Amino acid sequence: MPARDAALELARRLTAAGYEALFAGGCVRDRLLGLQPKDYDIATSARPDQVLALFPGANEVGAHFGVVIAKCRGHHVEIATFRTDGSYKDGRRPETVTFSTPEEDAQRRDFTINGLFERPETGEVIDYVGGLADLKAKRLRAIGEPHQRFTEDGLRLLRAVRFSATLDFDIEEKTLAAIRECAPLLERISPERIRDEFSKILVSPRRRAGVELLVESGLMQHIVPEFLKTIDCEQPPEWHPEGDVYMHTCIMLEMLEPDAPLELCLAVLLHDIAKPPCQTFDDEAGRIRFNGHDAVGAEMADAILRRLRYPNDVVDAVVPMVARHMQFMNVQQMRTAKLKRFMAAPTFDEEMELHRVDCGSSNGFTDNYEFLQAKAEEFASEPLIPAPLATGRDLIQLGLTPGPRFKELLEAVQTEQLEGRILDRETALGYLKELATATTA
Ligand code: ATP
Ligand code: MG
Repeated sequence: MPARDAALELARRLTAAGYEALFAGGCVRDRLLGLQPKDYDIATSARPDQVLALFPGANEVGAHFGVVIAKCRGHHVEIATFRTDGSYKDGRRPETVTFSTPEEDAQRRDFTINGLFERPETGEVIDYVGGLADLKAKRLRAIGEPHQRFTEDGLRLLRAVRFSATLDFDIEEKTLAAIRECAPLLERISPERIRDEFSKILVSPRRRAGVELLVESGLMQHIVPEFLKTIDCEQPPEWHPEGDVYMHTCIMLEMLEPDAPLELCLAVLLHDIAKPPCQTFDDEAGRIRFNGHDAVGAEMADAILRRLRYPNDVVDAVVPMVARHMQFMNVQQMRTAKLKRFMAAPTFDEEMELHRVDCGSSNGFTDNYEFLQAKAEEFASEPLIPAPLATGRDLIQLGLTPGPRFKELLEAVQTEQLEGRILDRETALGYLKELATATTA
């Protein structure tokens, strides 16, 4: 059953019990835009205890007082009583909420396009905040006084950029001015909440516009300030006709596939993050170099992602992608074993994509990319790293005691195997014996 039908059923039961029940916020906006709503929210005149009495399986959400989550045929729908938010002291959430009218409930929402209601039965839209006109004009406007609304909840700053980027809406002038003024309020928002909005901006197909807006609005200063140093960071024009590191990165973000995964988007954003601190101008010609920017960049990416509380699996994917991005320039010189090990990295496919847009946004070279594609095809019939021909057990059989030498010896056999020089266990054991005696002798 579609989510909408599940929400409709819940709304009908509320109406049948004599309460008013309206679809609210994002789901109304998305339907009017012809988009698939991610989730449905119902605003109702029923108080939370009355909602709970009507839907015995439902749960109250701890974080938001009086918001009930009801389950219907596999879908979760938030049901919240019409409310007015009390004063905000900490810039994050209201001190109190008072149950009130639909009109007041619209006023507490963040942007006019998010302040619409819809009668579930008829689809009639109820607009107390001018949201329909703004939807039509593709305009994002804060409800009420923008400055006050951002001061109440600093996360709205990022939500504004997110909606503007994902929907391709312009931010209304006063709202944008208030975002610029209120940008430092992001410092009061938890890294986790910032991370979630930041990620939504990065994975959206219009990620370049989103990142540029974060920079221009002053918000990036409070998310990844290191990234601002890429602006005006000059590069050798023969390799980078497109301009500075910032421009290079922005073009890459735009060149990614619309559905690029988060890890790849983060890796693109951060791949040259250490170019500014690593920039040197050597010899008389003043040649610009960025020696070590891959390794330093990996360290910086690690620190940035941990600061933003990205989970380990994201950090563990992005950091090696940054660390290895320059190795793509050497793949044609690598020996087969080294190449196979390089290509066996869990993030290799995403790194290929990073390399494609890295070249595409600068020198336009495609030779390493095509070389790797051909190699991937050539190696496709068997695993890149096949099952080992020998193990530590064989070394013990040869009379060796376990230690750091084991890894070296087994790696040496693996190299022969990857190069295609040793293909069976017997030869592998003979080779190991030879190596072991040669080095112990
Ligand atoms: P999404 O597509 O991400 O679900 P959404 O607009 O539905 O976007 P939700 O977080 O699901 O966003 O919130 C639902 C509604 O609650 C919003 O449309 C808005 O009316 C209101 N809302 C959410 N967060 C805030 C906030 N920080 N300040 C004010 N109103 C908010
Ligand atoms: Mg929603």
